[in-house]
Amino acid sequence: MSVLTVDEYRKALAKWHVPVVEHVVDGVKWYQHGRPLDGWRDPWDAHAIAVHDTVTGGLDTQHAVNLCWSGKPGVPGPLYSGVVGYDGKLHLIGFGITNNVGKCDKQSYELAANDRLKLTAINHPGADDWGQANSHCYGYAYQTAGTDPLYKRVVQDPVMFRTLAAVCDAHHWQATSVINHKELTGRKNDVQYDKDGEIRRKVAALLRAGPGTVTPTPVSLKITEADARAVIAVADRLRSQLG
Ligand SMILES: [Zn+2]
Repeated sequence: MSVLTVDEYRKALAKWHVPVVEHVVDGVKWYQHGRPLDGWRDPWDAHAIAVHDTVTGGLDTQHAVNLCWSGKPGVPGPLYSGVVGYDGKLHLIGFGITNNVGKCDKQSYELAANDRLKLTAINHPGADDWGQANSHCYGYAYQTAGTDPLYKRVVQDPVMFRTLAAVCDAHHWQATSVINHKELTGRKNDVQYDKDGEIRRKVAALLRAGPGTVTPTPVSLKITEADARAVIAVADRLRSQLG
């Protein structure tokens, strides 16, 4: 099964207790918002999930979602299937083909599509020789405001890992179908914090444990923007001290 219906997708996310926000912009619903097939060489035929950081210049989740919905000059939206915001929610902004990968190394994609990535190491991609990954990869992005790994881990990771587990589960894929953008192309360095396949390991553990082990509501710290900025400042200071 390489294509889920909207209902199957919704049910998969609900099964894993992913808190979702379904976006509608100018009457267009998220699931009506995909790249048109005209101009794309392949139809939607997903076999892997690409994970990203999206740097949108701030902590305002609605602002980030708007940018990822619309895209930017030369890179039309939707940029991803969904964005995991600083509010601890998965924002659904696109369905089917989204503009999340661009040129990449086909061999690296095929490792993900065939569950042959490692759980203990990052894949190092070869040269960009393929431009069709958008037709074959779901894309989920962390809202990222610079260097903020602590905040990401506490608030966003539980939602991201559930999302990835839900899509893997619905398609009967392993966690080794999850690939960081930087593992697909040498042009990118996201997801920055994953140095050794950590995201795949966390998703694998979640898939082993099953959806019954996650609480319906993820950790909510009710963090204000001022709190978030303070956490980021501490993380940045620690990083500079560590050199
Ligand atoms: Zn990316």
